[in-house]
Amino acid sequence: MRYFYAPDVHPMHQLDAEESKHMVRVLRASVGDEFLLIDGRGGRYHGTLHQLDKRQCVLQTQLIERVPAPEVELTLVIAPTKSTDRFEWMLEKAMEYGVRRIQPVWTTRSERSKEKRERWNRILVSALKQSQQLWLTELMPAMSWEEYLTLAQGPGFIAHCEVGEKQHFFEVMNPGESCWVAIGPEGDFTPDEIANAKKTGATEVSLGAQRLRTETAGLAAIQMFALAQRSPLT
Ligand code: SAH
Repeated sequence: MRYFYAPDVHPMHQLDAEESKHMVRVLRASVGDEFLLIDGRGGRYHGTLHQLDKRQCVLQTQLIERVPAPEVELTLVIAPTKSTDRFEWMLEKAMEYGVRRIQPVWTTRSERSKEKRERWNRILVSALKQSQQLWLTELMPAMSWEEYLTLAQGPGFIAHCEVGEKQHFFEVMNPGESCWVAIGPEGDFTPDEIANAKKTGATEVSLGAQRLRTETAGLAAIQMFALAQRSPLT
């Protein structure tokens, strides 16, 4: 069944002009056709096409289930890469893996500082539908690394390639505990940025012997976190 995303689903749900046009022109839907609606906040609805109009379609909806967000969540704090494509690819994959929150940060060595919130959100929504999940990865407004450090909550980890005493992220994170992990830009975090993170209580970590690109490092951290949630019980 076809998925629709709508952040607020109403019992008589009106699709916007773009979705309505899609319904009529592309899907060639008929009154009575059935759909699934997801609100990205755990709600899954059944929808029946009630009114067909290329400017405004109406779906009659009914809640099927509301699934709570996983209790243990990862916030991926990451410096957007110079290449938009690479960053957007990372967003799509992060959503597929179901990461709870992404916090873009600008750092000293960031090679770009243009936030594309709408476009990035569209990519996340499309990956949400494609991967048929119920919780949309939350995209936080971009901010500077220093500002993030003043707001950061809970246990945090900073992954970097500078020399120093680092343990592997997989080894030091606590399964069952929400945390954030920060990934730097192409040129890495500066020693000052690392020192400031440590002052706020963050732990320096390694992601392994290889130097990964920013977007790869982000995905690697997400996978390590996801795997850790299953250990040591399964
Ligand atoms: N230019 C740097 C590499 C930066 S890699 C150098 O040559 O040393 C970009 C980001 O990915 C880093 O800031 C870090 O957060 C993360 N990263 C990549 N590989 C890593 C690894 N093996 N351990 C820890 N962090 C890593």
